[in-house]
Amino acid sequence: MSVIAISTNKGGVLKTSLTVNLAGVLARQGKRVLIVDTDNQGNCALSFGLNPDQLKTTIYDVLISGTPFLPDAIRIVHDNIDLIGANDDMCFFEFDVLGNPRAFKQPFQLMRARLGPVRKKYDFVLIDTPPTLGLTQANVLTFADRVIVPFQPERYSMRSLIKIVDGIRDFREKHNSALDILAVVPTLIDSRTVLHSEVLQECRRFCQVQNILVTDTVIPRTVRFAASVAYDQKPLTISDPKSAAAKIYEQLLKELIG
Ligand code: ADP
Ligand code: MG
Repeated sequence: MSVIAISTNKGGVLKTSLTVNLAGVLARQGKRVLIVDTDNQGNCALSFGLNPDQLKTTIYDVLISGTPFLPDAIRIVHDNIDLIGANDDMCFFEFDVLGNPRAFKQPFQLMRARLGPVRKKYDFVLIDTPPTLGLTQANVLTFADRVIVPFQPERYSMRSLIKIVDGIRDFREKHNSALDILAVVPTLIDSRTVLHSEVLQECRRFCQVQNILVTDTVIPRTVRFAASVAYDQKPLTISDPKSAAAKIYEQLLKELIG
């Protein structure tokens, strides 16, 4: 059983798409998956056709108020997939925890303490994260065993990749010795652009030196991917598992977990 975080300090790089689509592939293979959304945008719920604002109990309640809230927070969203959703409440998480140091003596340990008891019920816990490196991300990285870092090649994205890799390794040293970078996954790739190929090459060289896997499977930028969630109310790997796009996620999963 493993807890995998999909993390990086950028938005719009397919963190949520990776989370829900990999969950879809795992579920189809008969694996029990828990998705934990920690981003206040609540996009994981949206990916399964749920309105995040209508979720009564979310990850916020679990983290702030404790394990009694767990049973209400976990919803079945598909065969083999449970979800702990997030919504706007999560905007207040850092504020509430850091503003109340007496109640929260170990602010990085909340997620591990609350979700530790349920992890054994699942084959995989996949955690979607916000595009920031604040208290939420710290809780996620304290609980996770492995991190997937999505990487969208752009002119300055190498600088940010180097920083995030350093940041995760530093975090590992200080807070969670069990944490490993599972892979860097190239996303939103347009293989026809010279910039993408160049930056991707640079990324592969850097990661090779760092002993980090960059998957051969890349997620191409296509309209079909973008449209699927909006229309189908399920991640593509569930709504259209035979599609070329879903096959790419299947291939990616194989590279990631064998
Ligand atoms: P993040 O969670 O990192 O902010 P998302 O997974 O929400 O990123 O993706 C950002 C946007 O890109 C979403 O609107 C999503 O529907 C769209 N998208 C997802 N996959 C693709 C793809 N392969 N090509 C183009 N757009 C995509
Ligand atoms: Mg997201």
